[in-house]
Amino acid sequence: MITYLNLKAIHEPIREELDNVYREVVDRSWYISGKYNKQFEEAFAAYCGAPACVGVGNGLDALRLILQAYGIGAGDEVIVPANTFIATVLAVTDVGATPVFVDADMRTYTMDVSLMESKITARTKAVIAVHIYGRTADMDAICEIAGRHGLKVIEDAAQAHGARYRGKRAGSLGDAAAFSFYPGKNLGALGDGGAVVTNDGELAEKVRAIGNYGSIEKYRHLYQGCNSRLDELQAGFLSVKLRYLDAWNRERIRIAGIYQERMQNPNIILPAADGLSEERNVFHIYPVLCSQRDRFLDYLKQRGIGVNVHYPIPIPQQAAYPELKAVQKEIPVTDRICREEVSLPLYPGLSEREIDRIVTAINQYV
Ligand SMILES: *Cc1c(COP(=O)(O)O)cnc(C)c1O
Repeated sequence: MITYLNLKAIHEPIREELDNVYREVVDRSWYISGKYNKQFEEAFAAYCGAPACVGVGNGLDALRLILQAYGIGAGDEVIVPANTFIATVLAVTDVGATPVFVDADMRTYTMDVSLMESKITARTKAVIAVHIYGRTADMDAICEIAGRHGLKVIEDAAQAHGARYRGKRAGSLGDAAAFSFYPGKNLGALGDGGAVVTNDGELAEKVRAIGNYGSIEKYRHLYQGCNSRLDELQAGFLSVKLRYLDAWNRERIRIAGIYQERMQNPNIILPAADGLSEERNVFHIYPVLCSQRDRFLDYLKQRGIGVNVHYPIPIPQQAAYPELKAVQKEIPVTDRICREEVSLPLYPGLSEREIDRIVTAINQYV
């Protein structure tokens, strides 16, 4: 059996370094906002090419804290791509704002920017650019349109640690970016974690305050904040793992290159393959489309290949959002992706034999 993701294979080679972090943190017995926190925030900001990074509780909080810090709330609209994980939209509705959906582009699966401008109204305050599956969104076009309308550009970079756009890394491409360190992400903690990365120093300070009970100075509260901080222990693990991120991403891109080169089946649509050498895509997910998905899923199961579906139900169809039902007819491409998408195994630690078996299985599917 080839598992969809094998975190053990990723952590085994760095086991000793992770153990050392645990021992050091327990020795110091300082568990919140300590030395590792500061170290990781500085290292991750530098990695992204942005001046500031604030560790937070998780990726959803990172998005929510950015929106709240920008004062976005009831009566405001935020443009979001329809093809995304629900957290992008939950952040918008959590602050009381209204999500306005833009369909996906059939080639890249990121937001179709040709549809974006028609969705802007007098109430629109921001656009969330999601680098879905690890591929950076069409940032030049998004920033150009946003600039003309005075909108904030927020990156949802939860799937795109290290991905580039015209040489610059995700996290430095807009006004502020949200990262998730959920264990399965390209850079994952050993638990929940997240970060806000931004070019805007004032925003960084406000996010840090809001996530710390609205406080900068102990027992003085400037905002009605919450508790959303990155654990010291997780910051330590992330400091270790950050040093391997580039090598891991290169391995992901290498495997994607093999898939692109060797997979050939008229029944299976592979993802866009441009920009591999520019790291435009760090392949958090390797999505293929198959019109008869259930049959294809059964076939892969018989072949012993673990796969996943990202994501089976469009957000406007979710029970959580009955008020969004009517949006469904405006997002045919997202609807198709939700009906046909299958994510193949792709991660550092996948062996040549396993890669071979996956390629062969895809090519032999009829
Ligand atoms: C994982 C993810 C999030 C949420 O991150 P959590 O840390 O799980 O809260 C947000 N957006 C996208 C696109 C994601 O993939």
